[in-house]
Amino acid sequence: MAFFSSCPRIAVIGAGIIGLSAAYELAVRRGARVTIFDVRPPGRGASWAAAGMLAPAFEAAAEPGVHPQLFELCLASAALWPEFAGELAARSGVDVGFDRTPSLAAALDGGEAERLSRIAAVLSASGVAHTALAAADILRLEPAINPVVLGGLELPSDFRVHNRQTVTALLAALRATSKVTFVAGAAPLKSAGGKLSLEGHDAVLVAAGWETAVIKVEERGALFSLANWETALDDIDCHGGQMLSVAAGESAPMRVVRAGHVYLVPRGGQVVIGATVEPDRAIDAPEAEVIEALRLEGVRLCPGLADAPVAESWAGVRPGTPDQAPFIGETVMPGLFVAAGHYRNGILLAPVTARLLADLILDGKRGGLIEAFAPRRQFGGPMTLSSAH
Ligand SMILES: Cc1cc2nc3c(=O)[nH]c(=O)nc-3n(C[C@H](O)[C@H](O)[C@H](O)COP(=O)(O)OP(=O)(O)OC[C@H]3O[C@@H](n4cnc5c(N)ncnc54)[C@H](O)[C@@H]3O)c2cc1C
Repeated sequence: MAFFSSCPRIAVIGAGIIGLSAAYELAVRRGARVTIFDVRPPGRGASWAAAGMLAPAFEAAAEPGVHPQLFELCLASAALWPEFAGELAARSGVDVGFDRTPSLAAALDGGEAERLSRIAAVLSASGVAHTALAAADILRLEPAINPVVLGGLELPSDFRVHNRQTVTALLAALRATSKVTFVAGAAPLKSAGGKLSLEGHDAVLVAAGWETAVIKVEERGALFSLANWETALDDIDCHGGQMLSVAAGESAPMRVVRAGHVYLVPRGGQVVIGATVEPDRAIDAPEAEVIEALRLEGVRLCPGLADAPVAESWAGVRPGTPDQAPFIGETVMPGLFVAAGHYRNGILLAPVTARLLADLILDGKRGGLIEAFAPRRQFGGPMTLSSAH
């Protein structure tokens, strides 16, 4: 049963890939009217800073404390990406750089070889295709990798998209429809008698990345942050990340390659080298010594990049939660929905997040994954942070 009797108007707060994908699903694919608010230029938060890997396999071997269904959510979203990318490119006229060439995970030492074996075992148990590669095989597939490599995995489940182009395409598709209005600035949310409202709107979706908890609400003339209403949004925290890109010469990798904490992503004539994970840091600028250390890690993985000039370096902030999985669903306040906390997988998880929310907001569909990722869920054991993206 639908929540609303006629064409509803939904407010989306935050124009990152999560808010924009939700707005796209709600307005372009399902015909709702949507207002998108952002306090900064749209699309320039974490979604611009990301590398664009669509990498579910790296959630296969869940660490203690990680949401037990995160891998399932990642696989569900990866399955939606081909259609999402194709439709978006066709509507916007923007090439989103969707590339299904399987990623490679390389083991440069024994510890990494063991970790890849664990991931391969979970992938086998889950029926997810992958191929174990001897050193000679991985070097044949990607000659740019360091010849000291011990072996690795080929991962057809893991591919890539140009995340900046995707954000650009989403903005173009949304601007082309009269169903969507962009507002530069904060949404004037009000609260009275325990109810939250935004004039002219039937529902509000907060999708402001790591800043979601601090969105402001006015009550009796004073401003409070959303976290004050026991929305559970105060569980959203920040994890800084720094990255760089270098010019892609002849000895650059042609596909996504990763080893341990470092990964290389070919993108638009450059190779992105990522990334640091810096808990509790909302960094807005890269630090020279951190970038140089990362560059050297990238060079260790693909030595041919040693002399490649640095094209760009930058920093971004991943929105985290205690179990590294997003909040997707309705908060304790009726009509206030959330899509935030996508941590290292927000690009990958954008299509499934948009679908689940549109099902919930427009059709009242609950159950399954939407219940599993509800904002007021219980968290398991202690979390350990491991490999980046
Ligand atoms: C270095 C790095 C590498 C990454 N690599 C990958 C990767 O390879 N693959 C992958 O899947 N994920 C990756 N991620 C994670 C991914 O980028 C994030 O999970 C995702 O971008 C989060 O999207 P978002 O829309 O929630 O947040 P954002 O993109 O940060 O957007 C939030 C928006 O909300 C706006 N906002 C904030 N406060 C308000 C307010 N009060 N009112 C209105 N608007 C507001 C902001 O201005 C911003 O535009 C990476 C992240 C980093 C930092």
